[in-house]
Amino acid sequence: MGKKDWYRVDPGIVEGRMSPAEVRDIIDGKFEMIPKTKEHIKVDQDRCIGDACAICASCCPSGSFEMVDGKAYWKYGMTHCLECGICQYVCSVAAIDWSYPEAGTGVILKWS
Ligand code: SF4
Ligand code: SF4
Repeated sequence: MGKKDWYRVDPGIVEGRMSPAEVRDIIDGKFEMIPKTKEHIKVDQDRCIGDACAICASCCPSGSFEMVDGKAYWKYGMTHCLECGICQYVCSVAAIDWSYPEAGTGVILKWS
């Protein structure tokens, strides 16, 4: 798969954006994560329109989503999600079930 082949949405919207893997490379080491005890974000695969959209994957500032077999998966969220909340608002079909991780777990941001 080529560098820009991870999405198939309107290139006018996301052309030039980084892939989730590139985003993860940039933010790795910039935060600490207290190990989470449950997956606090889930994608309803029946609702997700997948490659026709892929907005969550292009908007997520932590690269937590990947498009797999034409659908969005919160594949790296347990280790990378910054709990910003953007994904739940950009999904036009309400496919993302969003909640915070359990108290005392999750991201610790640090300035660097
Ligand atoms: S924004 Fe919603 S519909 Fe679009 S790929 Fe993500 S989960 Fe699927
Ligand atoms: S809450 Fe923010 S960082 Fe976490 S998966 Fe959604 S968009 Fe990405």
